[in-house]
Amino acid sequence: MLRRLREVMAEQVSAQERLDRIVVLVAANMVAEVCSVYVMRGDGTLELFATEGLKAEAVHKTSMRLGQGLVGVIAREAQPLNLPDAQNHPAFAYFPETGEEIYHSFLGVPILRGGQTLGVIVVQNMARRTYSEEEVEALQTISIVLAEMISAGELQTLAKPGTELALQRPQRMSGRSFADGIALGHAVLHEPRVEVKKLIAEDAGTELARLDKALESLRSSVDDLIQHPGLGEGGGDHVDVLESYRMFARDRGWARRIREAINTGLTAEAAVERVQNETRAQLVRQTDPYIRERLHDLDDLANRLLRELVGWSGHPGSGELPKDAIVIARNMGPAELLDYNREKLRALVLEEGSATAHVTIVARALGIPCVGQIDSVLDLLKHGDPVIVDGTTGEVHLRPASDVENAYVDKVRMRAKRQERFQQLRDTPAVTRDGVAMTLMMNAGLTVDLPHLEETGAAGIGLFRTELQFMLASSYPRIGEQEAFYKTILDAAGDKPVVFRSLDVGGDKILPYMRQAEEPNPALGWRAIRISLDRPALLKAQMRALLRAASGRELSIMFPMISEVGEFDQARAIVDAEAERLKSFGHELPSSVKLGVMVEVPALIWQMNELADKADFLSIGSNDLFQFLYAVDRENARLANRFDPLCVPVMRALKDICDAAGRNNIPLSLCGELASHPLTAMALAAVGLRTISMSAAAVGPVKAMLQSLDVGKASAFIESRLADVSCDLRKALIGFAEENGVEIDE
Ligand code: PEP
Ligand code: MG
Repeated sequence: MLRRLREVMAEQVSAQERLDRIVVLVAANMVAEVCSVYVMRGDGTLELFATEGLKAEAVHKTSMRLGQGLVGVIAREAQPLNLPDAQNHPAFAYFPETGEEIYHSFLGVPILRGGQTLGVIVVQNMARRTYSEEEVEALQTISIVLAEMISAGELQTLAKPGTELALQRPQRMSGRSFADGIALGHAVLHEPRVEVKKLIAEDAGTELARLDKALESLRSSVDDLIQHPGLGEGGGDHVDVLESYRMFARDRGWARRIREAINTGLTAEAAVERVQNETRAQLVRQTDPYIRERLHDLDDLANRLLRELVGWSGHPGSGELPKDAIVIARNMGPAELLDYNREKLRALVLEEGSATAHVTIVARALGIPCVGQIDSVLDLLKHGDPVIVDGTTGEVHLRPASDVENAYVDKVRMRAKRQERFQQLRDTPAVTRDGVAMTLMMNAGLTVDLPHLEETGAAGIGLFRTELQFMLASSYPRIGEQEAFYKTILDAAGDKPVVFRSLDVGGDKILPYMRQAEEPNPALGWRAIRISLDRPALLKAQMRALLRAASGRELSIMFPMISEVGEFDQARAIVDAEAERLKSFGHELPSSVKLGVMVEVPALIWQMNELADKADFLSIGSNDLFQFLYAVDRENARLANRFDPLCVPVMRALKDICDAAGRNNIPLSLCGELASHPLTAMALAAVGLRTISMSAAAVGPVKAMLQSLDVGKASAFIESRLADVSCDLRKALIGFAEENGVEIDE
């Protein structure tokens, strides 16, 4: 049958004719009276596309919903049904136009791709019989060929207008916005799926030998990755993920199922794809996140095996990029994103991801929109499909219809207009309507951030995340490299101040080359200043690099995650000792060195007086402060929308910190996400902050807000609301802004 099928596939005939020949062929070979193919349309219904045995007039007429009738159930469950007496099955539905009432036995298997159902193929017989295992296998093999026909778009021409097939239809998916902005472009799959071109084998023995060879080299490449986790395309892969790779790579069941599929007549690569489709179809319906995570590992592994089989080499980011590339990935590290040509990169879409993960921080630095937590998006796209990414709402449109596209073209134009307006504000002061001057700084961490200083007119860099350089490197940057990097930053900033933050790693910020023991509570664990004080060599080297880079200029450094004043004393002692040392070697020191503390751990709120005696300045890290005040893990997607940081308790805490800083006469700023949105920035000004540091894109909108704000009035307003802990502060402040004409558009 497969030999004949191969011939049918090669014939120069129309798609309908090919499909008609396939059903005739299958029916004849399986000694079935009926063989029918149903294809899933974009609206989720299944349409009869071809039949041998049922009435011809039912073709392209009979259709059923997902879950309706036996075919609908197979499509929904993605599992075969093998029934000797179909009409007694509770889901049986009768479609009179088909004339199928005389057939008793029924075998249907789903046509799958990437775990998604594209259609169903059915055989039926009049006699009551149960189809054998081999017959089920044979039909599954045919379904692989049909899946290819459908996903290659061959059947699209048969669909009536407005009834696009499931794989080609426009689709809107909702996830979470991780970086603002809108992009229209074309999909680039970060780790391209290998296109399996040859499906039917000439000789099973040859295919089995190819499989064995590929499995062997897969296993040894996985072993290699485990031994050298920082190397190769694995980049910063975790060893435990690799261990689960190893588990699958050595899983006999997996290899056995692929072998069985080869024995049904498929090529090795088609067999890998078939087993993967079936596994996916089962696992995708699981809600347990652990199992779903393992599914991703298995997907990666199957893809690696396919690459071994077809000899695909190359790495993500290489190859021809469209001029408007929208990169689609399960997840990736920051360095991988930076491998893409910035000129052509328009947006990033992740199946996973989180708002404070570093690839998203890098996306923001690059100024491209990023949307994450879009489940299964990789399965629904082909390379080159048109995509729109809306980082303002967290939506992604796949193959958008022209009205959606036009609406977005308009939206982009509107945003460009607003951007122009913000541009005009660039050189105007950030002074409120009642004459209060604010200092707007920007956050940075990469050299790509630097031009934004000029473009936005920010007063300086209020937070420079030095760890990004460390995270992008494949080993600890040497002192010389660190010094050169800091010098570049200071040179670019000119006479604008830069506040460097000492290495803030641990928690979610992993250095691939630094071994870190697994911790039950990483956010509360060995991170930031705690690592720096326990491993002073790292901190010393970084301080020396900073002191040398700032020779003859002003230098500001702040320390993250300080919990007690004593920790700051120790950090200062290290800086002093390094300065002494450099002086003794005759180096010119910075003209001034200011050392500050990040207020991120709530315990500091009750050490403000002592801190003010010791530190030169304070900066509130509201991301971590909120995480600790509310005991809510900032990386945990389940909790992401549970509490609003724009609430009475958090604003009371911020006000207390502002008041204490004022009494003690110590400069205070805030550099967390709260500063990056006009509404929350308005609240910050109202509780007394006068310096805030935000993402570059927020400088314009926040300045526009301030210029339209009477901050005295806002302070009085928020003061009255802070007395009532049940007040919905976000709502109240939106109301205040609307009533008083304060511009809070993002
Ligand atoms: C913060 O915690 O608010 C902060 C600015 O630092 P990061 O987001 O890098 O932890
Ligand atoms: Mg922090």
